[in-house]
Amino acid sequence: MKVLKFGGTSVASAKNIALVKDIVSQSDNLKNIVVVSAFGGITDLLLQAAHLASEQNEKYKSVLKDIEERHLNTIKQLIPVHGQSRILSKVKSDLNILETLLEGSFLIGEITTKLSDKIVSYGELLSSYIIFEFFKQEQMDVTYKDSRELIKTNDLNEKAVVNFEVTDALCKTFFESVQKSIVVAPGFISSSEMGNSTTLGRGGSDYTAAIFAAAMNADVLEIWTDVSGMYTANPKLVKQAKALPHISYEEAMELSHFGAKVLYPPTIQPVLSKGISILIKNTFKPDDKGTLITQNKNGKGKTVRGISHVENIALLSLEGPGMVGIPGISKRFFEVLSQAGISVVLITQASSEHSICVGISAEDTDEAVNTVNAAFEYEIDRNRIKPVIAEGNLAIIALVGDNMKSHQGLSGKMFSTLGRNNVNIRAIAQGASERNVSAVIKKNDVKKALNALHEEFFEENIKQLNLFVMGVGNVGSKFLKQVQQQKKYLKENLKLNIRIIGISNSRTMVFDEDGIALKNWEGLLEKGEKADKNSFFDTVQKLNYRNSIFVDNTASDEVASTYDAYLGNSISVVTCNKIACSSNYENYQGLKNMAREYNAPFLFETNVGAGLPIIDTLKHLIASGDKVLKIQAVLSGSLNFVFNNFNDKTTFYDVVKQAQEEGYTEPDPKIDLSGIDVMRKILILARESGNRLEIDDIENKSFLPKESLETKSNEDFFASLKKYENDFQDLYTQANEADCKLKYVAQYEDGKASVGLQQIPKNHDFYNLQGSDNIVLFYTERYPNQPMIIKGAGAGAEVTASGIFADIIRIGNF
Ligand code: ADP
Ligand code: ASP
Ligand code: MG
Repeated sequence: MKVLKFGGTSVASAKNIALVKDIVSQSDNLKNIVVVSAFGGITDLLLQAAHLASEQNEKYKSVLKDIEERHLNTIKQLIPVHGQSRILSKVKSDLNILETLLEGSFLIGEITTKLSDKIVSYGELLSSYIIFEFFKQEQMDVTYKDSRELIKTNDLNEKAVVNFEVTDALCKTFFESVQKSIVVAPGFISSSEMGNSTTLGRGGSDYTAAIFAAAMNADVLEIWTDVSGMYTANPKLVKQAKALPHISYEEAMELSHFGAKVLYPPTIQPVLSKGISILIKNTFKPDDKGTLITQNKNGKGKTVRGISHVENIALLSLEGPGMVGIPGISKRFFEVLSQAGISVVLITQASSEHSICVGISAEDTDEAVNTVNAAFEYEIDRNRIKPVIAEGNLAIIALVGDNMKSHQGLSGKMFSTLGRNNVNIRAIAQGASERNVSAVIKKNDVKKALNALHEEFFEENIKQLNLFVMGVGNVGSKFLKQVQQQKKYLKENLKLNIRIIGISNSRTMVFDEDGIALKNWEGLLEKGEKADKNSFFDTVQKLNYRNSIFVDNTASDEVASTYDAYLGNSISVVTCNKIACSSNYENYQGLKNMAREYNAPFLFETNVGAGLPIIDTLKHLIASGDKVLKIQAVLSGSLNFVFNNFNDKTTFYDVVKQAQEEGYTEPDPKIDLSGIDVMRKILILARESGNRLEIDDIENKSFLPKESLETKSNEDFFASLKKYENDFQDLYTQANEADCKLKYVAQYEDGKASVGLQQIPKNHDFYNLQGSDNIVLFYTERYPNQPMIIKGAGAGAEVTASGIFADIIRIGNF
């Protein structure tokens, strides 16, 4: 004999029920019990109608109408017209009784659990009847049995306790006498010895099937649902989750107890005691292997087998000096909760015995608080115990696996992964079986925590980086192109999966939780919503992805002022924008401190020398104990370009114009020519060398005439360059006569920094600097005479974009 159970989604429509028929017809067993749930969503609607009626809200009628239509339509689609009328009239008469029950509740304005169970039982009664009639219509060898006549329970409504002795006997008598090869029966519903309808708890159709399977010693219990088995984590929340081919009863029990809804937890016990295996299968992909659950322990397989979670948890804490060394307080605490019918999902006790903390279902919070406070009234009045504290909006997340006990360090890895992703842990518990480690976290963090843990324990170390990119001008667009080109390589070789989740320019912004298709980001961005840097941040925070990185490719001070919000939420920041690092020292240092505190890297390699590894090298020198004595550098690709091209055959004006047009200067070329940009760079290098310096401390010996410096527009600026052409020519001639070249040099020594134009003689390292190249000489305690030299292309969108990319890979390897 085989028992097949089909869940709500599997029977949600006529189309789905036809799939169910195919599966049942193909069963290789002579005898089959087919247990069905209510049509998907109907149980919720019935409960909603009951609730509305009990509040004397007329809206229950429209809910009832929806319920009615769902059933009548399904019949019309499944059964040919000539066979419909008998079935329609039976279902209508059932729906009339349902209406009378709801009306009763509406009139008296209340509902008992007994009436509620009666109402909700119609979901399964109707679905099973319709499916039975359909099977009959399809010439299958089928009969019907109301499960209430077989499963007997106590009178506790909504989650009745089964009397197995009576139930098993009734099942045996009935199923053994059946001649047909298929019996269709409703799941979830049962009846008390008094004859009232009872139910087995939400999701209880699985349990019905298990009770039948155990009573009849079935060959197998098949649970047909809408996913291909028990997964490593809820596949609706973790895209990378995989179906587990095989798990033990105990593992299945822990996973389902901690929220893997695919199997109702009580289901396992009856079949476990008979050694009957459970096979979880997908109605919509019947060829998928599914998950087999048996006695066999997970041999050498993975230690962590699955991650599950329970939402809507509250923590209750009882504490006070009166708890120390007084035996029996915990016992009383648990007794009160159990007498109130409140089950405890998780227990932790502080080792000081000063407090005890338990996790319960959030819906039980009020009742728990009231009963516990009442029970400890005497102690509370005398300040020996504080009134119980309840904290809501929490969830439990649990790692499960048979072999976890023999492996050290799993919980360490779990908690450090959560910590790295800024998931705050409120409580921790390890099951006595050592088959699970669980943590209580905020409900909002569940998706992030599940995915981060899944990545850590199941994804062969592929790390997903979720990028939010602001600014897609020259640098930003090159950067996106590089990501697109390298995506595959990074995944295969560095095990990094880079996804661009958000993009914004100054006009619009766009987000895609599955990653923006980079082929067409321009089109998508154009159609995006109105850009706003604050709502951009809000979205990043709300999405709450693990390994989130904010990438700033702008030169905006407003954008720079949002970094602290990102870092404070453990979101890394990568930027080529120099504003933050060259702002006042407090701000710069504050951001670096936050990065450390919140475990979120703040990287700005491209602030100096574009893609050249200048800051990274400096960091390594300092970290390994070296000390910077002096820095000499040519740090402006723009000024280098200008002075390499300027001579007595060109005009200064023309050269600057050309530099601007070819993208070697900032849009406002004065920022480069005045030396401000170089000042910012040497300031950042001085700070990274460990010195507390402000921009005003830097001496700027500008070569520009005062009038040029004071211009307010690009136009005026260029006009002034024309006007002072002779002065610029003088600079060139003097240098030429001294056999020198002009270079704009930044220098830092003994806590002092300066920038300015210098005549560089032939034998100097700077003399042969080409095009827009940068060069930095680090004189340190380890390199006192021959400096460490870093030289190469120091400007341009392509190299800057690659520098940003390098910072992102650094974070990936962090
Ligand atoms: P049915 O109506 O068939 O009984 P349920 O909705 O009760 O189906 O259970 C199936 C659902 O369980 C899946 O759609 C999935 O969202 C959820 N689920 C949660 N955790 C897991 C898990 N670890 N593996 C598979 N499914 C899970
Ligand atoms: N229909 C019931 C519910 O939705 C039982 C089940 O589907 O297992 O909870
Ligand atoms: Mg279910």
